[in-house]
Amino acid sequence: MQCPVKKTPMLVLELEGVEIDYCTSCGGIWLDAGELALLLGNEEAGRDLLDSLQPAHKASRKLRCPVCGKRMKPVSAGGITIDRCPHGHGIWFDRGELADIIRHGSLDPQHRVATFLENMFQEG
Ligand SMILES: [Zn+2]
Ligand SMILES: [Zn+2]
Repeated sequence: MQCPVKKTPMLVLELEGVEIDYCTSCGGIWLDAGELALLLGNEEAGRDLLDSLQPAHKASRKLRCPVCGKRMKPVSAGGITIDRCPHGHGIWFDRGELADIIRHGSLDPQHRVATFLENMFQEG
């Protein structure tokens, strides 16, 4: 899969069986539909987060979904704006945005995901 920003191949990382596409160039993360809930280890929390996303108005960077190539739509949760495929293929997080959203929503009480992300960025 290609990074929607840099158009370079992303690395596939694994956290407890969940595959995460990570761009070493820009630090962005792509999560396929459903991977967010798996990552959080809590289907309800994942669904609640997706339901809480509101359409956002951000200067469009014309990012395209790495799965279908359609223009992604900016959406926001708690003031953090992310890009989502209009066909529901997944969500693009710029560097740090996934950690911010998880922290904002208190979705990671054991800091499992946060620790993983920190280690990942240190290596990258
Ligand atoms: Zn990138
Ligand atoms: Zn798509």
